[in-house]
Parts: sequence; C-alpha cells; structure tokens
Amino acid sequence: MFISLQELESKPVRFEVDVPPGRIDYDSKIKQSRALKAAGTARLLNHSLGEIRVEGDAQVEVEGTCDRCLEGAKYSIANHFDLLYVPAEEGAGKGEDEVEEGGMDVGYYEGSGIELNDVLREVVLLALPMQLTCSESCRGICPVCGQNRNERDCGCAPESTNDRWSKLKSLREEITPRS
Ligand SMILES: [Zn+2]
Ligand SMILES: [Zn+2]
Repeated sequence: MFISLQELESKPVRFEVDVPPGRIDYDSKIKQSRALKAAGTARLLNHSLGEIRVEGDAQVEVEGTCDRCLEGAKYSIANHFDLLYVPAEEGAGKGEDEVEEGGMDVGYYEGSGIELNDVLREVVLLALPMQLTCSESCRGICPVCGQNRNERDCGCAPESTNDRWSKLKSLREEITPRS
C-alpha cells in the first residue's frame, strides 16, 4: 500500500493490512512465518517539511536462525509503533538509515510518499532483539567440539568463548609434550 503525500495533504490515511509472507523483503536473517497484521494511521505533521508520522499496531511471527546454536528461532511480535519519516534530502549527510530523535525512531523517504511495507519492515526489524536466540536458555554450540549443547552434553571443559588467549594457552599446553 502506497501512502502518497498528496493524499496526506487532505487528510490522515488510515490503514489496515494483512501482509502475507514473502511480500516484505527483510534482511536475509529472518522471514515471516505467517501474515503480518497491521493497523494504524499516517498523518502529515508539518506540510512544509513533509514529515509523516506513522502510528499503529503490528502483529507478526518471524523465524530466523539462532545466533548461538544455528537452529531455528521464532519470534512473535505484537508491537505498538510510532515512526517519523522525513524527506531524504533533509537527512542527507547523516549517512544512516535510522536515527533517534527524542526517543522516536526516524526514517527517511524519497519521492512522493511512503510505501507502507517499507514502514512495516522497519517496525519488525526494530522490534527484534540484537541477538536472535531460539530460547533464553540456549546453550549454543560447543566451541571445542562443535556439539549442539541443547541436544547433548559433550563433556568438554567449560570455557569462555570470548577469551581467546586462554583457548590458545590451553591449546599450547595440549601440543607441548609434558616431560
Ligand atoms: Zn539456540
Ligand atoms: Zn564439546
């Protein structure tokens, strides 16, 4: 659904959509597992500046890959969103797609209006946590033997995956023949 500036100039535009999987192109990390439902309103805040505020509620279920164990991870999102879109020329030079302005998420648009699917894509990506995990308690893959530790305990000695030096040190100890 395209929301044109021309339409917004006369009145706020209400929307209620049901977007089936495959219509919105997220990054390769996730995809929708069912239709995305969204309803809300787009309105022009300041005619001369062309600022469009899109507010509403979105509900969707997405699936991706767990960052820790590489198995499937599912997320249910039911979010209220409130985004501000400003014409791209104003944001030129900032070099970022997204900036925060007074706690509000700000995006840019080009041309004669905004594509609702682009807005919803942003809503979903903003709602996802930085790290995707299949569950809070996911134990991940063993850095020593590669076993998925949710399935089976491999019995390897616990170690901090961030501590590369200690890993290297223990590797060296293994290699160095003991006399
Ligand atoms: Zn996992
Ligand atoms: Zn192991």
